[in-house]
Amino acid sequence: MNRATQATETVSQRILVTGGAGFLGANLCARLLEADHEVICVDNFYSGRKSNVADLQVSSNFELIRHDVTFPLYVEVDEIYNLACPASPPFYQSDPVQTTKTNVHGAINMLGLAKRLNARILQASTSEVYGDPEQHPQREDYWGRVNPNGIRACYDEGKRCAETLMFDYRRQHGLEIKVARIFNTYGPGMHPNDGRVISNFVVQALLNDPLTIYGDGEQTRSFCYVDDLVGGLLKLMHETPPEFPGPVNIGNPDEWSVNDLAKLVLDLTGSSSTISYGPAPADDPVQRNPDIGLAQTVMQWQPETDLKTGLRKTIDYFESELRIGSQTTLLRSVGRRS
Ligand code: NAD
Ligand code: UDP
Repeated sequence: MNRATQATETVSQRILVTGGAGFLGANLCARLLEADHEVICVDNFYSGRKSNVADLQVSSNFELIRHDVTFPLYVEVDEIYNLACPASPPFYQSDPVQTTKTNVHGAINMLGLAKRLNARILQASTSEVYGDPEQHPQREDYWGRVNPNGIRACYDEGKRCAETLMFDYRRQHGLEIKVARIFNTYGPGMHPNDGRVISNFVVQALLNDPLTIYGDGEQTRSFCYVDDLVGGLLKLMHETPPEFPGPVNIGNPDEWSVNDLAKLVLDLTGSSSTISYGPAPADDPVQRNPDIGLAQTVMQWQPETDLKTGLRKTIDYFESELRIGSQTTLLRSVGRRS
């Protein structure tokens, strides 16, 4: 058993989760609390919601701080998960300068904090570092094909720079880092109006509104259920040795076209929605599928939830969100892109 595993299995730690009120962050905070850790959740609520962590606030081990990671943060913690950054294209493209700042200044601030505390830090990186890839499936040693000045660049290049900073802090300051390249993840906790494909399709289907396909729908993605993804982050942080920094792909290699995803959502919801086709967004990657060989070898990790099973749970979640009457007005604008 390595030092990290031993520490987390026997000792409760104080753990900082930035972006902790977002979709992945809230699910991660819940799992860390279940494992008896103390959690400090930091968020500026740009794309996250207090309601995502409302049930966690009953725990005396949970603390919520409103803070923007582009400004320095002074807390005392043992570990840092740096998740702060809107992940949905409509959200990250609506304030692109802030997106770059969140990725770059945010990473510098969290790495500075980690250096002062000698704390291990995990960066939520992304499959977007591969851009619109020529290699398929994508392996970690592929350097990617990113448009540096397109509308996705604030996110893609911001995340690439955050990776650079992580590895430079490791080389220059000996920091223990973990870089997770997360592929499309879905599940309970997503904002109904988030704008990503699964939340859009499920909510549209439940409202019997047309499903909005951008482009011809033949572009592919590989969708990972949130519980699997969070399990992967925990394994990377706690069960890999200090000499393994990543980057490591964490995602589900089961690849779907957007057209087939739409059909599956209609099938599982029994919806009478039609399908509407609109223009493809600029620089929309044509295909995406993780090679997870490294995660399987180093972390003994692979996803366990197939898309149908995960979608059923996600549909249940959005059904209950829709039952909350006050959100109906909000939900009517689903599918809009900024
Ligand atoms: P999300 O938008 O639901 O959550 C991001 C959270 O970060 C939100 O709560 C938001 O308010 C907060 N935030 C944004 N800017 C901030 C700032 N400057 N200071 C403090 N908080 C800030 O997105 P998510 O899906 O939970 O993604 C979490 C992380 O995982 C992100 O870094 C994202 O890039 C990465 N990721 C997610 C996916 C995915 O499919 N969900 C895929 C690849 C990478
Ligand atoms: N997409 C779509 N309809 C939607 C939302 C997204 O056809 O209502 C497409 C989008 O153009 C992309 C894919 O679905 O090709 C995945 O989009 P998402 O925003 O979920 O994630 P990302 O593009 O960042 O992988």
